[in-house]
Amino acid sequence: VDYAEGKGWHDARIVPYQPITLDPAAKVFHYGQTIFEGLKAYRTETGQIALFRPDMNMKRLNRSNDRMSIPAIEEELGLEALRQLVLIDKDWIPDAPETSLYVRPFVIATEAALGVSPSKQYQFIIIMSPVGSYYAEGIKPVSIYVESEYVRAVAGGVGHVKTAGNYAAGLKAQEGATEQGCAQVLWLDGVHRKYVEEVGSMNVFFRLGNKIVTPALTGSLLSGITRDSVIHLLRHWGLEVEERLISIDEVTQAQKDGSLKEMFGTGTAAVISPVGSLYWQGEKLTIGDGSTGELTLRVYETMTGIQTGRIEDPFGWRVALD
Ligand code: PMP
Repeated sequence: VDYAEGKGWHDARIVPYQPITLDPAAKVFHYGQTIFEGLKAYRTETGQIALFRPDMNMKRLNRSNDRMSIPAIEEELGLEALRQLVLIDKDWIPDAPETSLYVRPFVIATEAALGVSPSKQYQFIIIMSPVGSYYAEGIKPVSIYVESEYVRAVAGGVGHVKTAGNYAAGLKAQEGATEQGCAQVLWLDGVHRKYVEEVGSMNVFFRLGNKIVTPALTGSLLSGITRDSVIHLLRHWGLEVEERLISIDEVTQAQKDGSLKEMFGTGTAAVISPVGSLYWQGEKLTIGDGSTGELTLRVYETMTGIQTGRIEDPFGWRVALD
């Protein structure tokens, strides 16, 4: 779908996957005016094709658009585009449990002009790729590297939306994490360098005794759709969930006194990822006994069950496309 000032979003079309041509002066190259989303299409047990809460992705896409001075896209247009495209490509979903079609909607600023001002032209594109089961060999805890040198986001910035620069700014820290044998970076807040925010592509949850704590949405971390769903699910089960500030000191103290029972990440890619250890100030801290916790596994089974139609969906999250 194209956008031009005065004309709005127009010319929605479906074309074969192919390279696109952009002017070297296109604003996206120079000023990073671009946003994206990520969601998955599943083939359910009954053979239907379904998306998980796609309306939430369209709402977040427009929040990202707003922050990046990109014109809003009508939610219905986006949802219809997702429906038509996914149904065309549904045979690409591998025929194995928990495989899916990863769907990547994005917007780029295409106007060729070197002045620093919002583009007058955009393209909204959706691409897709089949993905295998994230845990082909069974759900497995990861190590996470707590970043204390680099900062990714502060309130008032763009950390709460999905724009390319956030991810580019995280690459250096990710290299450090990989060097320490860790899968991902855990970011601390950019002002105090103290409060836990999120992992590179996941929100995080801690089970402290019988309570579950997840960092509050303070304006510098992403409002994950999996996060929102997990909070609903845990409360539906009658468990206490606190959305609040949680410092790295509180986490490491709880690890030391044994009250930190479980930690997991939530995000579209892994759905739920158990965290087995944290690397912090040169020390590797094992969480619980380092294996996948009981609650983590229950949340994983339920979330993937709802997504793939293995279990009933009491929340109306699964949206069948055909
Ligand atoms: N935080 C960041 C920075 C992310 O990129 C993602 C992945 N979109 C998440 C959290 C998790 O969000 P969601 O549950 O909507 O995939």
